[in-house]
Parts: sequence; structure tokens; C-alpha cells
Amino acid sequence: FYSEQLAEPGATLLLTGDEARHAAAARRLHDGDTLWLFDGHGGTARATLLRTTARGQTLELRIEERRTEPPRRPTLHLACALPKGDRQQVLLDMATQLGMTRFTPLLCARSVVKPGANSPARWRKICLEACKQSRRLYLPAIEAASTAPDVTRRATAEGSLVWLAHPAVQAVSVTAAINERVNDVTLLVGPEGGFTEAEIEQAVAAGARSLTLGVSILRIETAAVALVAAFALNAGS
Ligand code: SAM
Repeated sequence: FYSEQLAEPGATLLLTGDEARHAAAARRLHDGDTLWLFDGHGGTARATLLRTTARGQTLELRIEERRTEPPRRPTLHLACALPKGDRQQVLLDMATQLGMTRFTPLLCARSVVKPGANSPARWRKICLEACKQSRRLYLPAIEAASTAPDVTRRATAEGSLVWLAHPAVQAVSVTAAINERVNDVTLLVGPEGGFTEAEIEQAVAAGARSLTLGVSILRIETAAVALVAAFALNAGS
């Protein structure tokens, strides 16, 4: 279960909101049961359920043990144009399971889909469920929408290696790209119509390198998930 704060061993902690409802109603936990908590920043704790309030709105827990896992390397920042409808869920769910640590919705010249007012909250929920599913202790940070050149400038300044996915013959193959050992990787994936030449030129001028996933043209979410999988699995995470 997700809890933004974790207490020290021996201390009590209250689980509230959706997480409490899920534990009490869907999982039907009882007093004395053991739960595992995570804080989304590498912290995890084993806890015992002491008491459930009426209607299961609050769970009182005692923390038994607590530890912090370091982030897996490289950290993977996916900056991706938005696919339509349900395909956003597929994208975020799979990328989080595989190890995405940060997500930026990309605004591109040929973007058709733009983020809505409720999108970040919805995406966070999808990422949270995916973390629980795959027992990932790092909840991806959801960044504000940005463009490929701007993401590249910021990422390069932070020391991240930026790869722009583009189906071009002169681009570096993904199998070569994943073997460059770095601590932080940023992956740019374009919209259905692809990146424009101007976007590619500006991103490359800002430090991005082009990467290809082969001759087949993949959907946005397929390209994004394939890239995250390639970098994460190659690093053993
Ligand atoms: N007609 C577009 C083009 O040629 O760029 C296809 C766009 S594709 C549906 C959406 C995005 O997925 C692309 O902008 C690119 O970032 C990524 N992508 C899809 N297939 C790819 C491949 N074979 N190699 C690298 N990137 C790919």
C-alpha cells in the first residue's frame, strides 16, 4: 500500500483515503494482519494492522521494520507525445512496471492529443497501481508538458543522456544505445505524425542523439514501452 510518509519502527501510522478503503474493503484485511507499505521514493516498511475504524476509512498500523532501496540505474525519464484515449493507460502502466522513473507529456508540432486538466491526477493513479503490481518502490514523477528541445536542454543540463526515437537509417540502433553506461537516460518519443525536421534539429542541437528501433513504424506507446524495456532490462532492473 502507498503511504506518502513512513514512520519509524515501533511507531503507529494511519492509512487513510483510497489506500485504506482498498485495504479494508477489497483486500479484507483483519486486525493482526501484515501489510507492506511504500512511499514512492524508495522507502518500504512492514506493518501490522492494529485497528480499522468504522466503515474502514482509517487503518491504524504499527511499523515493524523499515528500509530504503536506492534507485536503480539508469533512471529512466520518458518524455513522450500522448497517444489517444486508453492507449495512455497502456503506455503509463507498462512503462512504470518496467522502471520508468519520470514522465513528461511532450507537446510536438504534430501532436493531436493534448493533456487535459485532470490528466496528471489520472496518470499518477495509473502509475501508482503499476508500482504496486510490479513492486516498484519509486513512483514516477509526472512533469509539466514540454517540448522536445526544452526537455533536451533541461535534461542535458542535469547530466542526462538524451535519446530521440526516430525511424531513420542514420540513427544509432537501440542495441548500441543501451550499452552506453550512464546514470540517467531521457527518452523522447514523438506523435503519430512523427517529429518534424525542425524539432529534431533543435533537440539534436541541444544535445539529443537519434535512436532507431528498426524499420517497422511502431505506435507511440509501443515505441515508448520497447525503449523503456530495452534500457531497464539491459541494466538488470
Ligand atoms: N510517420 C512517423 C515517422 O516517420 O516518424 C511515425 C511516427 S510513430 C507512429 C510515433 C513515434 O514513435 C515516432 O515519432 C518515434 O518517436 C517513435 N517510433 C516509432 N517507430 C520507431 C522506430 N522504428 N524507430 C524509432 N522510433 C520509432
